[in-house]
Amino acid sequence: MIPAVLPTYARAPMSFVKGEGSWLIEADGSRYLDLGAGIAVNVLGHAHPQLVEVLKAQAENLWHTSNLYNIPNQQVLADKLVAATFADTVFFTNSGAEAMECAIKMARKYFSHHDQPERSNIIAFRDAFHGRTLGTIAAAGGEKLLKGFGPQLPGFTHVPFGDLAATKAAIDEHTAAILIEPVQGEGGIVPAEDAFLKGLRALCDEHGLLLIMDEIQCGMGRSGRLFAHEWSGVTPDIMAVAKGIGGGFPLGACLATERAAAGMIAGTHGSTYGGNPLATAVGAAVVDIVADPAFLDGVCRRAGALRQKLEGLVAAHPQVFDSMRGVGLMLGIVCKVPNTDVVKAGYAEKLLTVPGGQNVIRILPPLNLSDDDMAEALARLDRAAIAVEDAIEAAT
Ligand SMILES: *Cc1c(COP(=O)(O)O)cnc(C)c1O
Repeated sequence: MIPAVLPTYARAPMSFVKGEGSWLIEADGSRYLDLGAGIAVNVLGHAHPQLVEVLKAQAENLWHTSNLYNIPNQQVLADKLVAATFADTVFFTNSGAEAMECAIKMARKYFSHHDQPERSNIIAFRDAFHGRTLGTIAAAGGEKLLKGFGPQLPGFTHVPFGDLAATKAAIDEHTAAILIEPVQGEGGIVPAEDAFLKGLRALCDEHGLLLIMDEIQCGMGRSGRLFAHEWSGVTPDIMAVAKGIGGGFPLGACLATERAAAGMIAGTHGSTYGGNPLATAVGAAVVDIVADPAFLDGVCRRAGALRQKLEGLVAAHPQVFDSMRGVGLMLGIVCKVPNTDVVKAGYAEKLLTVPGGQNVIRILPPLNLSDDDMAEALARLDRAAIAVEDAIEAAT
């Protein structure tokens, strides 16, 4: 019999009922150290006191009005994002896929607005992930995402990640934009080289294309800068944000320059819940904390310490781990055994990590992970690796 919850996820057996900082707690009191943070969502950990307070206060005043009226919290959050980024304007959504849909529609609209409706094609990269809607699975282009879901939305061309020559060769009279995750997340924590991002920006400028970045996973402080593209000095024309921006409350955003957003006039796009007063109240509090340079310095410091210690751990377990990579607190450890074996060994040590593409385990802790919790996480991951080694020995 089909479960009451549609079984589209292969779920681990834990059920959490409470969160505290970097910890998740089951009904029986067992405590798990969370290095997944809801897949890069809980940037400030669980039940952050300031976020709880902001959400409670908003809940007592107003939950929802629709976008037929001004939403003051939306204005506040948009002003903060505009002040902190390349963007001049923001559309709010409830999820990452919707932020990406807005980005794709905006790029197409830009060229139609400029009397070039034939320019609607977007060049994207292999092993990308942009969400689960019909548009975003076509944007990513992976067989696993598309299979069985009928005709693929046209308008996307795929080239290898990091291949500037292939990108250049794919540009033709129908090209509207280039779409990239500055650090591929689901694809296995693969950072784009600065030179590659610079090359993409130059191609866009040369051919009059829009550069779209998907910073849904790598943005909101995860890289140690507010947005990962800042490390390269390259700015996009359009950027999709979600996950971390709500700190756990559903919220996404599509940021754009005034030029890129030119066609998005009244009536062209919308969302009933998008930018809802509850979500944008929390989002504004998250941005206040995360965009603070002192907070981002702390992320870089923690990231440096964690990376150095993880490198040691990887070297200490050559049967289990191959190498590591990533940016800031978005780290991937390439495994020699199936990554799910390592993730499961972590569960046995009450440590949560997330599998990713290319046989990687993803380490995506809350950005405010304490030094004590970091030390505890390393000890647990060490024990998990030993358990995997013992299993290998037992099998041979
Ligand atoms: C998670 C993710 C998405 C999709 O976000 P949803 O909120 O699940 O729709 C899109 N792009 C990237 C890079 C992501 O990591």
